Amino acid sequence: MKIRIIRVALKLMVNQKQCFFCTSNNKVIDYKNAEILAKFLSAQKKIVPRRRSRLCASHQRKLAMAIKRARFLGLVPYTLY
Ligand SMILES: [Zn+2]
Repeated sequence: MKIRIIRVALKLMVNQKQCFFCTSNNKVIDYKNAEILAKFLSAQKKIVPRRRSRLCASHQRKLAMAIKRARFLGLVPYTLY
């Protein structure tokens, strides 16, 4: 049982990717860049949670703000229908 928990923990550590914006050269999230924002939307055009987007906390907050701004400008949809 204990070995299994350790194995699962190791697997999680190996699979853990780094934040997309921290690893990329451009660390600023632009609300006008709808292509990048669309990568972090679900099929229903909702903002993807942090456990799926794998962003760091500060970038997830900035991304949510940017998506909301882009939605207000009509660059990104609020919902699918
Ligand atoms: Zn980050």
